[in-house]
Amino acid sequence: SKATLFDKGTRVNITFNDVAGLDEAKVEVMEIVDFLKQPKKYTSLGGKIPKGALLVGPPGTGKTLLAKAMAGEAQVPFFSMSGSDFVELFVGVGASRVRDLFKQAREKAPCIIFIDEIDAIGRARGKNVMMSNDERENTLNQLLVEMDGFGTDSGIIILAATNRPDVLDSALLRPGRFDRQISIDKPDLVGREAIFDVHLKPIKTSPNLDIRKLAAMTPGFAGADIANVCNEAALIAARKGKNEVEMEDFNDAVDRVIGGLEKKNKIISPEE
Ligand code: ATP
Repeated sequence: SKATLFDKGTRVNITFNDVAGLDEAKVEVMEIVDFLKQPKKYTSLGGKIPKGALLVGPPGTGKTLLAKAMAGEAQVPFFSMSGSDFVELFVGVGASRVRDLFKQAREKAPCIIFIDEIDAIGRARGKNVMMSNDERENTLNQLLVEMDGFGTDSGIIILAATNRPDVLDSALLRPGRFDRQISIDKPDLVGREAIFDVHLKPIKTSPNLDIRKLAAMTPGFAGADIANVCNEAALIAARKGKNEVEMEDFNDAVDRVIGGLEKKNKIISPEE
C-alpha cells in the first residue's frame, strides 16, 4: 500500500460488514458517514460539521479498513496518502503533493481523504528524525492551510491514522482540524472471534474447527495478525495436500505468526 503516491478518489466497495469488532468506533464513525450523506440535516440549525477525525491505535488494528469502509458506506470517493511517503522528498515536493491531493479531492467532493501515519509529517517541531525539519514543516504547514481553506459545508472529511498521538503538533488538534479522536484498540476475545469469522469466510475449513479456541489462542493479536494466521493456515494445509484446513494447521500458523511478531519487535528500534 505504500508504493502508490495516493489513492486518487477510488470508489471502494468495503462496508462496515468487512470490519469486525470495533463496535464503539463504528458508532462514532457512522455519525461522520451521516454528515457526508446528508450534510444539510446537520447544518440546518447553524452547527458546523467537523472537518476531520484522528483514528488512534496500534498497527494492524483496522484503521485503514475502517476509513475505507466509511467511504464505502457513504458511497463517496476515497483519497489516501501516507505520511511516510513524504519522507526523504526534495524541498517543496511534499507541500505540492498535499496541494494536489486537496485540489483533486475538492473536485470530487463529497469525499474522504485518509492520511495514514500522519505522525511522519505531523510531529511537533524538533522531534522528527526522518525528514529534514524544514521540509516536514513545509508539508505540515500546507496540510494546515488546506484544512483551513475549505468550509465545513464542502463535503470533505479528512481522516488520519496514528499510533503516536502524543507526538503530534498541537496545531493539528485544534478545533476545526482533527478535533475528534476515535480509538481503535486491539481486539478482545469476542473481537478476535468476529475477526476470525470474517477472514475464515473464503477458506475451506474442517467442520469441527473451533473458532472460540482460535480466538483464545491469539491474545494480543491485531486484526492484521489474524488475517495473516488464516492465510498461513490455508497455505500450510495446502502444502500438505489436504482438501480442508484443520485445527492443527491453525496451531502451526499461530506459532509461525507469533515467531514473525517476535522477530519484528526485536528489529523495531525503540521510540524516543
Ligand atoms: P497500520 O497502522 O499498520 O496501517 P491499520 O490499523 O491501518 O494498520 P489495516 O491496514 O486496516 O490496519 O489492517 C490490515 C488488514 O488486517 C486489513 O486489511 C484486514 O484484512 C485486517 N484487519 C485488521 N483489523 C480488522 C478488523 N477489525 N476486522 C477485519 N479485518 C481486520
